[in-house]
Amino acid sequence: MDNKTDIVVVGAGASGLAAALEAARAGASVLVLEKNHVPGRKLLSTGSGKCNFSNRVVGPPDYNAPARPFLKKAFAALPPGEVHAFFAGLGLLWSEGESGRLFPRSMRSQDVAALLCDELAFRGGRIAALTEVSSVKPAAGGFEVRARRVAPKWEKKAAGGETAVFGARRVILAAGGASYPQIGGGEGGYALLRPLGHQVSPISPSIVPLRAVKYPPRELDGVRLEARLRLLAKGRVAAESSGELLFTDYGLSGPAVLDLSRAAVAALAEGPVAIESDLLPEIAPAALEKLLEERARAFSGRPFSRFALGLLNEKILRVAASRAGIAWEGPAGQAKPFAAALKTFRTDIEAPLGFAEAMVTAGGCALGEIDPVTFASKKAPGLYVTGELLDVDGRSGGFNLHFAWTSGILAGRAAARF
Ligand SMILES: Cc1cc2nc3c(=O)[nH]c(=O)nc-3n(C[C@H](O)[C@H](O)[C@H](O)COP(=O)(O)OP(=O)(O)OC[C@H]3O[C@@H](n4cnc5c(N)ncnc54)[C@H](O)[C@@H]3O)c2cc1C
Repeated sequence: MDNKTDIVVVGAGASGLAAALEAARAGASVLVLEKNHVPGRKLLSTGSGKCNFSNRVVGPPDYNAPARPFLKKAFAALPPGEVHAFFAGLGLLWSEGESGRLFPRSMRSQDVAALLCDELAFRGGRIAALTEVSSVKPAAGGFEVRARRVAPKWEKKAAGGETAVFGARRVILAAGGASYPQIGGGEGGYALLRPLGHQVSPISPSIVPLRAVKYPPRELDGVRLEARLRLLAKGRVAAESSGELLFTDYGLSGPAVLDLSRAAVAALAEGPVAIESDLLPEIAPAALEKLLEERARAFSGRPFSRFALGLLNEKILRVAASRAGIAWEGPAGQAKPFAAALKTFRTDIEAPLGFAEAMVTAGGCALGEIDPVTFASKKAPGLYVTGELLDVDGRSGGFNLHFAWTSGILAGRAAARF
């Protein structure tokens, strides 16, 4: 074997770096193997480069329902405030955004990654980049970890490919989910888990934009507005959200849509799904009708366009008018049907976009096979599994990174107890 170390961590992402740091702080020798050329590549892209690393209030209801009993135990073992204290201890100052979202005060995800990597190096932990783990096998005294050198993109000649074998007393699998393959996501982590005896529940994209069945007029591409959304499935409201809605050239995106996307993916498996958008959520239906009636009187004798302009983006006003059967250049008025069109703007949904556009992967390593306090595998003694590889996914707002830190910290501490 090329190396012998106490703990090998597979993946230098959010949970792997937290795990490695806590294990190194506890005195273990730690080696992190990372296939990308830099550690924390996905972390750098989080929160549009600002890293929404946690939330002021975190609890099991912020995650997929089947994971909640497991998370109750994990959050009891490491309360969210202790994760925040972990970052304060690294020297991070943060500020609070909308809905309790926490961001580094610098608004730079690089700073979060740098704090973790610098402290890990200070504690003697090592990171081997461009090293992709291909197998983890139980062996005498722990595990044999096989990896191959990955050729960096900028190397023109096909270098890389050599195999290295590492010996470790314990292994922490922190290889992440399938989302964003362009920055390190993939199904490789699940392939490492299965031979070790773990079940992997079906995976699907989550926190993902949605493709419309028949796209509403293309001229809406790029229109953003604050809206309240209702997900309609099986003739009832399956979920609701509020916030920014973005029309794109394939369908819908923006935070309000991403928030509904998990429920939409689940509902699509059972039948047709639509999103009904209230485009003026701050005005109650009766008040909107009244307002439009007053406008109709104020602009009487002028075209409908003059009556409508100023309410919202013109592009969406035109589409809403046409859906209500109102001629844009016809006479002002028709307050009632126009109000209804603005309050119930419907988009039929065909499918989520794929993993390349999904921020999170739902599904993964079965939680019944993992100890919620140590993240130790119940199938392979000495193995620990963290982060998105597990069947845990949170809503948007810092909850996915929060779980990555929680699982990494607990696993790192437990793995270093020899
Ligand atoms: C664009 C984007 C924005 C996001 N923004 C936010 C946000 O603001 N807030 C939030 O809470 N969540 C956000 N998320 C989700 C969050 O980034 C993830 O949930 C979190 O990073 C998961 O941590 P992890 O440690 O499980 O996996 P990752 O952070 O994905 O790390 C896994 C690492 O393992 C490496 N790896 C995989 N296989 C191997 C192998 N075989 N050998 C060696 N290395 C391997 C990968 O290259 C990667 O570096 C965002 C996700 C995306 C894609």
